[in-house]
Order: sequence, then structure tokens, then C-alpha cells
Amino acid sequence: MKYVLVTGGVVSGLGKGVTASSIGVVLKACGLRVTSIKIDPYLNTDAGTMSPFEHGEVFVLDDGGEVDLDLGNYERFLDLRLTRDNNITTGKIYQSVLEKERKGDYLGKTVQVVPHITDAIKDWIESVSAIPVDGKEGPADVCVIELGGTVGDIESMPFIEALRQLFFSVGPDNFCLIHVSLVPVLGVVGEQKTKPTQHSVRELRALGLTPHFLACRSAQPLLENTKLKLSQFCHVPGANILNIHDVPNIWHVPLLLRNQNAHEAILKQLALLHVARPPNLQEWTTRAETFDNLTNSVKIAMVGKYVGLTDSYLSVIKALLHACIACSLKPSIEWIAASDLEDESAKSTPEAHSKAWETLRNSACVLVPGGFGDRGVKGMILAAKYARENKIPYLGICFGMQISVIEISRSILGWKGANSTEFDEHAPNPVVIFMPEGSRTHMGNTMRLGSRRTLLQTPDCITAKLYHNPEYVDERHRHRYEVNPEVVGDLEKTGLKFVGKDESGQRMEILELPSHPYYVGVQFHPEYKSRPGKPSALFLGLILAATGQLEAYVKSNQNGSI
Ligand code: GLN
Repeated sequence: MKYVLVTGGVVSGLGKGVTASSIGVVLKACGLRVTSIKIDPYLNTDAGTMSPFEHGEVFVLDDGGEVDLDLGNYERFLDLRLTRDNNITTGKIYQSVLEKERKGDYLGKTVQVVPHITDAIKDWIESVSAIPVDGKEGPADVCVIELGGTVGDIESMPFIEALRQLFFSVGPDNFCLIHVSLVPVLGVVGEQKTKPTQHSVRELRALGLTPHFLACRSAQPLLENTKLKLSQFCHVPGANILNIHDVPNIWHVPLLLRNQNAHEAILKQLALLHVARPPNLQEWTTRAETFDNLTNSVKIAMVGKYVGLTDSYLSVIKALLHACIACSLKPSIEWIAASDLEDESAKSTPEAHSKAWETLRNSACVLVPGGFGDRGVKGMILAAKYARENKIPYLGICFGMQISVIEISRSILGWKGANSTEFDEHAPNPVVIFMPEGSRTHMGNTMRLGSRRTLLQTPDCITAKLYHNPEYVDERHRHRYEVNPEVVGDLEKTGLKFVGKDESGQRMEILELPSHPYYVGVQFHPEYKSRPGKPSALFLGLILAATGQLEAYVKSNQNGSI
């Protein structure tokens, strides 16, 4: 196994994840098989309990792992299916060491950060990098490891030490360290400053790691003189100073690296030049350039709770982007804080209320994404009602599907007390209820997580046509509550159809409203499996419907595939 370690210096938020996945893309384009590991030095065992407000979305994997959103980047860029173990956290490492200690595995020794924690990190990296994640058999050729945080953080010290030891044990031909840094410019026409990079490289070297490459983020391309300085003061050959300057869209980043011959230099470092072929990035070039030249856009109303931080819905945004590009459109995402749509807001914040409604009315389609808790629920219900009554294409994801069921129960069945027991435990009409797969009494670990099969009840539904599969769909889940099976009969009397159910037939997975141009609710999260060249079927359906192309698409694709 060959390792490419990506560390970050100077400041956080440099796009280390995008840089690391782009390096993976370029290596993959050279014919190599690539896997990846993300290290998050925080103490949480996983991202499951972290607030989307603070940390961005929780990404969900096939195996139910709730992981850092960067793993989504790797899956999308490299078209991989990662496992929960591909995300290492301090919490997971300590947990494994402490479990061993309790079992008596350390034979009376004093358990210490070095060597026990560092050994656990090394073992974890070595065993996880060998798991095939690209659908093929056997381990990949290269494992890209991204170390989260910034070099010098107290929390990342054991990881740096473990990685230093790993480098030493696998040898220089099997290890390549790329340090991502920032080259800022002060003032309007000031010079490109190399000092922050020099300092962070010094920090790294003090810890026993010398970078083979620098990946410098900058607003404008680096000047020759700047590169020269960086090379001299950071002890990195000129050819290994890569520059990732600002580009119009992220798909340019692999192209930028290829144009600087990064692949050649990295392959040389890893003694892989003889097995690689010249990189084929045709698809990436077309996508990056097509996107730059798109002129038409489509307005999508995103009615959610966490609209302040767009990372909270990162995969949904990416899935919309993938679907829009497939339709040669730019997404114009209109964020609507659900609570602004509510009647109370008309009194307390009238301006925000009227603006929210105006935005909703001006949008070509409505999306209500996943969420937890009762804030904004009333507003989401109003948005779902508006979309249903005005025949505006609607996609409700997880929470968004539950919202549809509450809305239809209240508006059409007249069940004023219809609610989810998530926010009203004693709702007179519990239409969405807690349906754990395991124990009903234990609240911990009761989330239904990861990939589950949904059986389509009829080939004659829009979902089957969009997925090009009349039988089933496999998508990822992350929820506790579900449509109450006891009210399904009543709900179907309104014209609503549950066209997808789980294998037991008890869990409603997909709803459609056949009398509506596009009204789909899903209990799963289709966004997690969307890829740039393979948009998620239901997102594509939403955009096609929003632009009046759905019928033609379904007709022309009746016998074909995407
Ligand atoms: N809060 C809802 C549930 O637990 C929806 C979850 C979600 O949208 N991911 O079922």
C-alpha cells in the first residue's frame, strides 16, 4: 500500500478535503485504484451527535456509519463506497484502546499515548486502507489520508506521531506527504506572503515530518518568485510546489493539479511511474467547462431549519447541482427559513415573512430536506401544502416526507390533531410514529441507519421510471420515525400512494401523488449516493419537473438507461 498524507497548515477551511480528493481523482485518472481515510482528531466517536449548525451535515454511509462530511467529498469525487472505519476519530481510537485495556490485553503494562494510542492508529490505518471500496476485489493501490485540523493542534499530536512512525516503517517509496497551506496577499496589490507557510512547515518538521509537496491555496496564481522562495525556505523541490488558486468551480481542481504535472511528481515519489498511464480527465474537463458556461438557471426553494450554514445540507446541494448539470442548468438555491413562513412570523417579523413567501412563490420547485425537532415544522407544512395545492414540483426527504403526511392528514383527512410523535408524544392522530428496528425501550442506538432495500409496489410510478428499475431501490437512511402503518389505508384514500415499502411491508419508504406533476416523499436520503456524472434519480426528477421536461424524459427513457 502506498500512502498519500494530506495535512493542513496556517488556517482551517482551506479546502483540504477538496485538495485531497482531487489528488485522488488525478491518481485514479492515471489508472490507479484509490481509497481514502479521513482522520478527525476530535473526541466524538462519530459525527452522529454533532450539530449541523456547528459542523455541517452528518454524512451517512452504506454501513450506517455517521461520518464527517468530507467522506461525502471522497465518495463523490472518487465514486467510492466507504465504510465507517474510513473515518478515524480520537474517540474511536481511545475507545478501542480502553476496551483492550479492560480486557487485560496489555498484560499489566502502563497504557500510554505512545506507543499504545499511536500503535492503534497505525494498525487502524493499515487494516482499513486494505478494505476494497471501489467495487473491485483486493486492496487499492493508493490510500489518501486526510488529517483534519491544522498542524500544531494539541489534539492531532498523537496522529502526527503515528503517521511519522508509519512513514518510517513503510519507507520513502511508499509515503508522500502533501501539506496544504495558504499564501495570502495583504492589501489590494500587495505581495504574496510565504511566511505563514514557512512557519507551518517548520512546525511540521519539528514534529518529525518533512513535506514532499506543498499545495498552496491562493487567490491568484503563484508568481515564480513566490514559488522560488517557498522552495528554498520550506525545503521542497520547485516541481513539488503545487498551486491551487481560486477557480470558478471545484471540478477545476483536479485539472489544475494535472496541468502542473502533480500526478507525475506524486507517482515519482511513490515509485509508481512505471504502472501509471497519462491521466484521462476528459469527463472532468467537460463538466468543469460546461458548468462555467451555463447561462440558464432554475430556482429551487429549500425550506429548512439550518439555513444559516449551507454545509448543513451539503449533500443535498451537491445532489441538486448534479441534477441541474445533467439538465444543462445552474441551480439557484433559494434558502427559506421555515419559521419565516409561519403565521406568527407575519406579526413578529412581517418583512421576513413576506419575503419568504415571495421567494417560495417565485421558485420553480420546493425541497424540504431532512431534519430533527419541531422548530420550523409549521412553516414546512405550509410549504408542502403550497406545493401540493399549486402543483409545484415537491421533493420531501425523510423529515420532508413526514411533513407531507402530516399536512395531507390535516388538510384532506381533516385530522386536526395529526402530528408526529417526535414533537407531540400524545398527538390525537399520530400519523408519524417511532418505529425502531430493535428495542422500543432503549433510546440509544435506535436510529435506522444506512442502506436498506425499498421494494417498489408498482412499476407504474414516477420513482420506478426515474430509477430505471421497476423492482427496488437501495438508499441510505437516518431516521427514527416513520409513517404509522395503521393510517396508510386512510392516507391512500386521499389519492396518495405509497409506492415503495421496506421488505416487511410495514415501513413506508416512498410516497407519490399521481394527480400532481411531481410530488414525491422519501423516507431515505437519496442525496448521499448522488455523483457528479450520475445524478440521483429523484433529484433529477425534481429538476426535470420544475422545467417541464419530466414527461419527455420519461417517454424517451422508457426502454433505456440514464
Ligand atoms: N426527525 C425525523 C426522524 O427521526 C427525520 C429524520 C431525518 O430527516 N433525517 O425520523
